[in-house]
Amino acid sequence: MNPAAPSPDRPLAGRVALVTGSTDGIGLATARELARQGCHVMLNGLGEPERIAGLRQEIAEAFGVEVAHAAADLFDAGQAGALVPEVLGRFGHLDILVNNAGTQHRGPIESHPTDRWRQVFALNVDAAFHTIRTALPAMRERGWGRIVNVASVYGLVGGTDRSSYVASKHALVGLTKAVALETADTAITCNAVCPGDVSTRIFYRNAKLMAEREGITREAAQRRIAAANMPSGQVVTPEAVASLIAYLCSEAAREIRGAAWPIDGAWTTR
Ligand code: NAD
Repeated sequence: MNPAAPSPDRPLAGRVALVTGSTDGIGLATARELARQGCHVMLNGLGEPERIAGLRQEIAEAFGVEVAHAAADLFDAGQAGALVPEVLGRFGHLDILVNNAGTQHRGPIESHPTDRWRQVFALNVDAAFHTIRTALPAMRERGWGRIVNVASVYGLVGGTDRSSYVASKHALVGLTKAVALETADTAITCNAVCPGDVSTRIFYRNAKLMAEREGITREAAQRRIAAANMPSGQVVTPEAVASLIAYLCSEAAREIRGAAWPIDGAWTTR
């Protein structure tokens, strides 16, 4: 059997995916899921070179795909604009773009440093603008593409003490809709996913701190944090977000366009 040919087990075989911010958290889970479905993957994100080399090897060996890493720091517009050309240089084409890298600043707007505001927008919005504007010509040439932007529930509703995060994630949802319309007559789709609380490293760190502070078990702290925002009382796993992203990259999802899809335990339905 040709390993590059799509099959039910590997529906994305032969595709090339770029996932920004994929050395950890949701991005890493997404890179793994796309690789599992047969995609070659360009990782991007910060971290120790040895650890990143280990991730590349682990994913490549587990799923029989090529895995590379682009070190672009997406706070920098020049590096964000050069990322897709780097993918095209390495793999020859780009089929799937997942704009996942993101950052936030906590605190009231009155004390929000202006430079941090710019930084949050640079990573959460501008980087996606640069990757999309550089990816679209290559996708149009191939006649197929999937763009998924990782927004947040805070792209759909407000929240206190995170004004730049809320504003930037709303902007990312707006960008998603604009790109979906500009590509509506093609086989290229653009959607956003909007997770609630996700059990990434920071969730476990916060639960550990709460457990120590309040003399409760880590499990009890995890349940308390989850229940604070999520009507379901459950946090979302990175793997569940990755599965949703991979679904939006599937053939079946070809007429899902411009959606901002919550995965939030009913947070935004209240
Ligand atoms: P994470 O902190 O676990 O991982 C972030 C990734 O982005 C890492 O690979 C890191 O190296 C990379 N990164 C950070 N700064 C970068 C930069 N300047 N250039 C390139 N890469 C950079 O993050 P996460 O929690 O998995 O979040 C991923 C996305 O999901 C973000 O956009 C975040 O806003 C969104 N999100 C997260 C949650 C959550 O609860 N974790 C909820 C909703 C939305």
